[in-house]
Amino acid sequence: MPPRPASTRAVRRIGSVWHDVGHRSEPFPRHDDVPAPAQRLGEQLGLVVRAATAGDAGRAWVSALPCRRRPGNRRCPGRLIVFRTDPPAPIQWSCSSCGDEGRISGWADSPFDLRRGRPTLAGTVHEVAVCDEVAATLRELRLLDPDCDRLVFQARARGECIILTAAAEDLDELIGFVAAEANHETNRRRQNRLDAAFDLLSDAAANLHP
Ligand SMILES: [Zn+2]
Repeated sequence: MPPRPASTRAVRRIGSVWHDVGHRSEPFPRHDDVPAPAQRLGEQLGLVVRAATAGDAGRAWVSALPCRRRPGNRRCPGRLIVFRTDPPAPIQWSCSSCGDEGRISGWADSPFDLRRGRPTLAGTVHEVAVCDEVAATLRELRLLDPDCDRLVFQARARGECIILTAAAEDLDELIGFVAAEANHETNRRRQNRLDAAFDLLSDAAANLHP
């Protein structure tokens, strides 16, 4: 039997990511009943898988991902706590505030799986604090390589801040991606967000190299 095209495999795997969603006690909160809720949910699942696989395995940690629920028509202030071990165990996630939770199976080797192929040598890493808006802008970057993808998605929440943990050279690389995307962005509003992210990260990088 000929190998399946990669795109079909990806769809099948995304399909299995969806599988466990039906087991949630409340699959679609009523206040989120907006056009294309399924698409938004799919996007959210992809973000959760990327965070859970970019960060450490075997312990729960608070990611930068905001909760999407709107209890009482107000945005939930919580962030998603993620936990994963080795596949095929499902990724578990829960909101730090409203208690929403779920499991995602079929995540391993999906297009969202950011686990490293091999361990890398640990160099000096630095912490860079960014605001929510910059963290969200970084998650939307389209051109990242796997190392920068991991850098963005292993960001963790600490109080009101999002903490990026990066070696100086990785931070420089991320700044390069932000600059490249800002240069090609035609949407003025998004370009402004990219510029703001570029400025903040550049200042932080300059402080790493006194
Ligand atoms: Zn919540």
